Amino acid sequence: MSVFTVGEARNAAKIARIEETYLPVYRATDIFPEFTGEIRAAHAHWLAPGHFDAATGFIKLSVHSWLMQIGGNKILIDCCCGNNKARPTRPFWNMLDTPYLDRLAAAGARPEEIDYVMCTHLHHDHVGWNTRLNDGRWVPTFPNARYVISKPDFEYYRKLDADPSSTEPVEFGTFRECVLPIVDGGRADLVTGPHRLNEYLEILPAPGHSAGHVVFKLDVGGARAVFIGDVLHHLLQVYYPHWNFPKNSDAEEARASRRMVLELCASTGALVFPGHVGAPFAGHIEATDKGFRPRFG
Ligand SMILES: [Zn+2]
Repeated sequence: MSVFTVGEARNAAKIARIEETYLPVYRATDIFPEFTGEIRAAHAHWLAPGHFDAATGFIKLSVHSWLMQIGGNKILIDCCCGNNKARPTRPFWNMLDTPYLDRLAAAGARPEEIDYVMCTHLHHDHVGWNTRLNDGRWVPTFPNARYVISKPDFEYYRKLDADPSSTEPVEFGTFRECVLPIVDGGRADLVTGPHRLNEYLEILPAPGHSAGHVVFKLDVGGARAVFIGDVLHHLLQVYYPHWNFPKNSDAEEARASRRMVLELCASTGALVFPGHVGAPFAGHIEATDKGFRPRFG
């Protein structure tokens, strides 16, 4: 298990990675058409094995949550895909049956101990464990948690869900299975950034990958971290911030948010916790004379 510390001594935040899956999932050139042989050669020294499968030419992506323990609170950031969720068009994440909750318990939190669930956005791989199946109904997995949800993202998907011309279930059915049961059950705090959650955590808008994507900024006595969700999916995008992952609500906005977040992380020295980057999963961003580079591991 990967565990990170932000801050000093008894006030420190302890942050553990809770893995759901970690696999080579997409051909690199399908996701990033700009990924030439020349670029592959230039980055070969760090790409494999954590971020790239050299045998297949596929990029490796992790799907994980971050469990943060701070000031007596247990906060779960992003909720993976979840078990028993039918996603036939996403075969790697279809009808999963993983020991995610056992891993969460091993990291120090049983479901009833989680105080806050915070989703960077409402895509299927970030809200899955919001709910679990109980007697044929989707119920909150974390019975005592407040779920912090980006209001602009919620409004975006609620509008799509209510549109009579929508022929497909919104976000593979995720909105109805993993989001509405939380909001309708009165468990959600719908927030619009910038928004301060408590003395340690601030929610900042970083839209573009989804309409209401947010990042979470942590400050523990001057020690910083940023949970950046899907502002970037792969460390290649630190070197090439204009490279977008294909699925975005607004491609130009996604690029602008990526540059803003890279700038924020580089200028503050924050420890950066992405949603899908491979081992060692968290690290730093450095400004260079040409742009940025990652310092992970
Ligand atoms: Zn994602």
